[in-house]
Formats: sequence, C-alpha cells, structure tokens
Amino acid sequence: MAENKIYDLLILGGGPAGCAAAVYAARKQLHTAIITESFGGQSIVSEGIENWIGDQVIPGVELAKKLESHVRKYESETFDVVEHERIEKLDKQDDGNFLVTTNKNTYVSKTVLIVTGSHRRKLPVPGADEFEHKGITYCASCDGPFFTDKDVVVVGGGNAAFESASQLLAYTKSVTLLQRGESYRADAVTVDAVLADPKMTGITNTEIIEIRGNKMVNMIVYKNKGGEVVELPTDGIFVEIGAEPTTKYASDVVDLTQYGQVIVDPRTQRTSCIGVWSAGDCTDGLYHQNNIAAGDAVKALEDIYLFIKAS
Ligand SMILES: Cc1cc2nc3c(=O)[nH]c(=O)nc-3n(C[C@H](O)[C@H](O)[C@H](O)COP(=O)(O)OP(=O)(O)OC[C@H]3O[C@@H](n4cnc5c(N)ncnc54)[C@H](O)[C@@H]3O)c2cc1C
Repeated sequence: MAENKIYDLLILGGGPAGCAAAVYAARKQLHTAIITESFGGQSIVSEGIENWIGDQVIPGVELAKKLESHVRKYESETFDVVEHERIEKLDKQDDGNFLVTTNKNTYVSKTVLIVTGSHRRKLPVPGADEFEHKGITYCASCDGPFFTDKDVVVVGGGNAAFESASQLLAYTKSVTLLQRGESYRADAVTVDAVLADPKMTGITNTEIIEIRGNKMVNMIVYKNKGGEVVELPTDGIFVEIGAEPTTKYASDVVDLTQYGQVIVDPRTQRTSCIGVWSAGDCTDGLYHQNNIAAGDAVKALEDIYLFIKAS
C-alpha cells in the first residue's frame, strides 16, 4: 500500500500518545500514516481507569475502542491507518527522508513520531522463555481467574506487584510474593494491607534462578538471603518487575538513555535527530501516564506541523 508514497509524517504506535497525535495530524491535513500493532496501549488491561480526563471511570478496553474510533474517523486518501503491523526498523535515508520497515511493508516519510511506549520486563532466567504464557503471565486482572484455588507467585516489590497480589488473593489458594531487595518499594499502606491477608506471604532478599515445569509451570527456584537454593512449587508466576521502552528499532537514528528511553527536549518533544520526535512512555520524560502521553504527543504535533510548513 505504501509504494511510491512519501508521507509528511509516520506515527509509530497506537496508544494514547499515537492516537492523540493522529487526530491532530489529520486535522492539520498532514499526509500521515499511523502504524501500530494494536490500539489502546498498556492500560487496555485495566478494569477501570479513573483519571482519564472527561471519563470518571472507563475500562481499558473501552478507552482503546474510543481512541481507535476517533482515529479511524479521519481515514482517507491522505490519512492511512495501518494496524496489525510490527515496526522492526527505523532508518534515515541519504535523501534525508526516513524509512520505516515493518514485518509486512516499508514506508517513507519526511518526519517521524516515535510513540511505541513500553513493554513488560521479562525474567532473565532459564525457563522464562519456555514457560511464557504457560503459567508465566503479566496481567493479574486478565489472567487471575485462570488460577482459581491455585498457588501462585508474584515476582516484584513495587506497587504493581502488590496490586497484582491483592487482585489474585480474590481467586487463588495462596499468593507468595518474591522481592529481590531488602525491602518493598510499594506504598507502606498497600504493603501492610496486602500482607495482612492470611493467604499472603512476602519474602524479601530472593534471587530467582530458574523456572521449571512440564507442559506448564510447576516450580520457581530462587536463592534466599542465606544463599540456599529454594524450590517453591507453584501453578503460576505473575511477573511485575517493571517495563522497558520499545525503542530498539530506532537506536541507529535517535539517542537513547542507558535504559533505552528516547531522549527528548521536553519543550518540543524533538529527539537528537532532526525530523524525528517522540512522546509518551518510550521517552525519558519523568512521568508516565495516559494524559501525559497524549499531551506530549500533541505538543510534538504542533512542532512537527511548524517544521513541515517551514521546510
Ligand atoms: C496495567 C496498567 C494500568 C495503567 N493504568 C493507568 C491509569 O489508570 N491511568 C494512567 O494515566 N495511566 C495508566 N497506566 C500508564 C499508561 O498506560 C501509560 O502511561 C500509557 O499507556 C502510555 O502511552 P503511550 O502511547 O506512550 O504508549 P503505550 O500505551 O505503550 O502504547 C504503545 C503503542 O505502540 C504500539 N507498538 C509498540 N511496539 C510496536 C511495534 N514494534 N510495532 C508496532 N506497534 C507497536 C502498541 O501496540 C501500542 O499501541 C497504566 C499502565 C499499566 C501497565
């Protein structure tokens, strides 16, 4: 579909940042394509988002539908919506334009907005890849009911880990939370409330070393504070050890932090490469929220528009 076209702008990602940018780009009549694997972004798994401005409470899936339909309203000859494609590479061509390669197509554009957000960090231990989605999961609200009356483990010690544990206590026989550090990073009030449940156990100073199983996970192996190897039988493992930005595909073009975040000028959302902007969770912006992602993407669009009209 993209042969011979040179877009004004390619928007890479369809979360709150990408969708906000898309609406502004369409209304400014920039020749644009938004390319995304799916619409909605990370909070699609949330049962109720209570701080998306204008909706007192909205389930993540409903927010995703609203974002997508707002974007699709503008589909036209000059505004392409490309879903179910995975962006694999961003390159700068000798002629100054940018080449985006997906698993299905290539696209060329004068400017690019990187809004691919972030994805969940995985456990870097043997067995983690093998049992991904075979007992290892990342979403308590989505997958918790599959573990009714089972013994499960949550890995992590921040608010997300404790929130997951709290949700899982509603279904499971027991929840064991394994935290790497000496103490928990979650709010003290949350920690106390969750650990007070008789089905809940929290263990600090653990180093996960292996995941084992047959067809499905049946054991997590860790070293305890004293260095002893503990084999803990479990039916499921909920991993809550943070997120990492989805930016590797752009690392030849823009400067990234040591954590892989795109470095941006917060006044304009410009990156180190002229012609490329970024916004939302994939950037080194200090705060990551739906409204911030959308707002920063709009800021980027205002700047992109001026850049295109001036060139
Ligand atoms: C469980 C959970 C609950 C949350 N709850 C809230 C909340 O209540 N309120 C709040 O303000 N924030 C919440 N957040 C944070 C919020 O979801 C993020 O700040 C926000 O989604 C960031 O938006 P984004 O557009 O920058 O990136 P993302 O939401 O990460 O969107 C990235 C987009 O890029 C696409 N994409 C990624 N990689 C590729 C690729 N290689 N090729 C093609 N497409 C790709 C994805 O499909 C997605 O559409 C929550 C986060 C989580 C994980």
